[in-house]
Amino acid sequence: MHDDQRPEAAWGLDTLAIRTGHDRTHEQEHGEPIFPTSSFVYGSAAEAARKFGGEEPGNVYSRFTNPTVHTFERRLAALEGGERCVATSSGMAAILATALALLSAGDEIVASRSLFGSTVSLFDKYLGKLGITTRYVELSDLAAWEAAITPATRLLFAETPSNPLSEVVDIAALAEIAHRHEALLAIDNCFLTPALQRPLALGADLVIHSATKYLDGQGRAVGGAVVGRDKELEEVFGVVRTCGPCLSPFNAWVFTKGLETLSLRMKAHCTSALALAQWLVAHPAVERVHYSGLADHPQHALASRQQGAFGAVLGFEVKGGREGAWSVIDATRMLSITGNLGDVKTTITHPATTTHGRLSEEQKAAAGIAEGLIRVAVGLENLEDIRTDLARGLDALV
Ligand SMILES: *Cc1c(COP(=O)(O)O)cnc(C)c1O
Repeated sequence: MHDDQRPEAAWGLDTLAIRTGHDRTHEQEHGEPIFPTSSFVYGSAAEAARKFGGEEPGNVYSRFTNPTVHTFERRLAALEGGERCVATSSGMAAILATALALLSAGDEIVASRSLFGSTVSLFDKYLGKLGITTRYVELSDLAAWEAAITPATRLLFAETPSNPLSEVVDIAALAEIAHRHEALLAIDNCFLTPALQRPLALGADLVIHSATKYLDGQGRAVGGAVVGRDKELEEVFGVVRTCGPCLSPFNAWVFTKGLETLSLRMKAHCTSALALAQWLVAHPAVERVHYSGLADHPQHALASRQQGAFGAVLGFEVKGGREGAWSVIDATRMLSITGNLGDVKTTITHPATTTHGRLSEEQKAAAGIAEGLIRVAVGLENLEDIRTDLARGLDALV
């Protein structure tokens, strides 16, 4: 209600993350309230008719209109620089809703090969059933993207930087290719968040989030979101409204509060990750470190230009293959052995037997998932304690 009096257009990212999207109610609360209600009441039959018919804005039913969810949506839209955001029950629901909204039988997707595992299953198994086919290409190879596009291609889908090898694609160049072929570009921005990368400003049409990761940042809730233009988001909203993968008010509130510290957290995550990567490079048990913040990473220059920092997920290969990697993981006492990431708690995982375990040997080789590869998602504990926990197993391998 005060939007037109607020100087939001001039606000920086940290201010938007803290101040935008909340209209104070008559209770004059300082913090953002939660509205745990399934439905809303009307003053009259005529008002109900107008709100149901969309002639008058207002809340109807929490599958598609809830003030707490709306606060999160407005805040994330502002951070990503999008016209509109639609929140969903998970990151996967955000990708599903986008596909159902924008694609039909016979349409094609071109996607980067190194995607989140469930995204690949969604594309191949479930969208495949609906007659939507996906071709996969090497993330950083722009010529391969262009070559995979056919007249049926409607959507280009990329996750950058990739997990766990930290490969990067030039978003502006990929957007130009997509638009030349009348396709849309969607970027899964989970790993960097709008604090470090704003794909819409670089020409992407849609941004996908698993809010479960850094937007919350403390591993408390599962949720997701799609951000972009009104035109496409109205279709995504239609899917969420009708099919029902909606975000709960409680989770929306958790994410709204998470956004308030996003930028500070991301800076701290990235500072520790870079220092850890440099320390790993120098360790004699480590054969290779994959992190775009290192000067010898193949896309270091692009990452430096496109990203505010290099993210907090890094991969490193140790001596001794699977046995070596497992011994380093098992020697930790503090790090959480889990496939999750985007948490204040540092996590460690062996991609070849967990997150990428369903891939064939050839697919693993093509994706660069070596048996000695370990992925660490660097949290916010003291860096010295993270190093000590890793050094125990690494020193024993030398
Ligand atoms: C976790 C994740 C998803 C899926 O999100 P959920 O909230 O777990 O459904 C999608 N993309 C990336 C890059 C992820 O890390």
